[in-house]
Amino acid sequence: MTAYAHPGTPGALVEYKPRYENWIGGEWVPPVDGRYFENITPVTGKVFTEIPQSNAADIELALDAAHRAAPTWNKTSPAERAALLNRIADVMEANLEKLAVAETWDNGKAVREPLAADIPLAIDHFRYFASAIRTQEGRLSQIDEDTVAYHFHEPLGVVGQIIPWNFPILMATWKLAPALAAGNCVVLKPAEQTPASILYLMELLADIIPPGVVNIVNGFGAEAGKPLASNKRIAKIAFTGETTTGRLIMQYASQNIIPVTLELGGKSPNIFFEDVAAEKDAFYDKALEGYAMFSLNQGEVCTCPSRALIQRSIYDSFLGDALGRVEATVQGDPLDPATQIGAQASNDQYEKILSYIDIGKQEGAKILTGGEPNELGGDLAGGYYIKPTVFEGSNSMRLFQEEIFGPVVATTSFADYDEAMSIANDTLYGLGSGVWTRNGNTAFRAGRTIQAGRVWVNNYHAYPAHAAFGGYKSSGIGRENHLMMLDHYQQTKNLLVSYSDNAQ
Ligand code: NAD
Repeated sequence: MTAYAHPGTPGALVEYKPRYENWIGGEWVPPVDGRYFENITPVTGKVFTEIPQSNAADIELALDAAHRAAPTWNKTSPAERAALLNRIADVMEANLEKLAVAETWDNGKAVREPLAADIPLAIDHFRYFASAIRTQEGRLSQIDEDTVAYHFHEPLGVVGQIIPWNFPILMATWKLAPALAAGNCVVLKPAEQTPASILYLMELLADIIPPGVVNIVNGFGAEAGKPLASNKRIAKIAFTGETTTGRLIMQYASQNIIPVTLELGGKSPNIFFEDVAAEKDAFYDKALEGYAMFSLNQGEVCTCPSRALIQRSIYDSFLGDALGRVEATVQGDPLDPATQIGAQASNDQYEKILSYIDIGKQEGAKILTGGEPNELGGDLAGGYYIKPTVFEGSNSMRLFQEEIFGPVVATTSFADYDEAMSIANDTLYGLGSGVWTRNGNTAFRAGRTIQAGRVWVNNYHAYPAHAAFGGYKSSGIGRENHLMMLDHYQQTKNLLVSYSDNAQ
């Protein structure tokens, strides 16, 4: 398969508009102050569209629209909501390739990922919550012969959602699908680095979502995010982003006593026990692949397996084979389906990763491969490409403790099971982790011991809609995906009814 033409060049599958507006109340609405900022594609480092630089006034307009829509949407039947979610999924499926190209142009990721993962997962997520809301049932408690406690699920009303730039469409979907299924109206603020693909998606969905049920307001964190998260007119704030920002979001929410869900950072351990190398078979290959997954999505994944722990007895041989895999990773034009690793999402992120590579060197960690930008030619020369980088060091280093959010893995060794568990848990974070072993007992015990919301055993980076996802420790509060997500977007109403004519 040949590469997709870049937007703005002949034969392009996707053409972005030169300027976008906010999506409010089912219409494209210019920012109240008339200010816009330039949106850059990390593929080439060039500006490709302009985005509203919104502020509190725009958030208020969106909340007005959401509150106008809420009395009707809140009362829709589960069947109606499911129908909308399924229609959204159908439109996305019919436009899968376009959405994948749009996502790559906005974010820099290799197009094979949104083609095979981001967009199909987003589609499945809408379908999953369409089914989930149809099957949800309430509870009834028999208090005594004549008294019944009914428990009803009610939508919260209007909710706020704020998302990051690493999986723009998928992160929006993780938030929108359960919120809409539960009967809420939404005001969502995308990340300022990647606002365009979500607006492109909204163009496709414009005719099918009732006005005001979904509102998208763009802009920066302090100017547009804060007025949303701290607003008295939202009944919940759902946030995905950095742990430092998550702390602020919690403070804002505490002023209004509203629930928060926080999906924050990580420094996930990926642990390889010695029995992995008992044979050089398909399982061994799978484990090597598991090691190399730190560069998936350019390492810009909250669950990036950014700390690799390899048992000492197999350290040299396993790492040698793993380095071969890493060095074979194809980096190039993100719009070429053969490319496995694309561009970092922004210049800021590119600079941050390079500065961490310097920090690693200063700390005395050893670079085993990569450790520098990948200078690609042609119109990719202005893009933000960094080679997959393997460091060797020890868990006390900043390289092992701080989230880099790039294609960088910090590797170390351990003597035995206990040491592996102690290194794995020696972190502020607790989002993802990986355990690789042929021994079921080791897998089970490690899975239960590691303090993380998701432990992948003999696989990594799978995100099915039906598996709960979220963080321990500083990685967040609450879960996403799974049926239980509906609870995060619903109130429980208890109706306690006496069916007796007699006094109690
Ligand atoms: P970020 O916290 O800088 O920004 C996230 C969003 O918050 C953006 O939309 C931003 O505009 C907004 N924001 C910033 N300051 C704000 C404020 N004061 N008030 C309200 N909104 C504000 O994070 P990022 O750099 O965009 O994303 C990367 C981070 O996201 C990483 O730490 C990563 O681990 C995390 N992440 C977590 C998950 C998860 O599910 N746990 C998933 C993806 C990314």
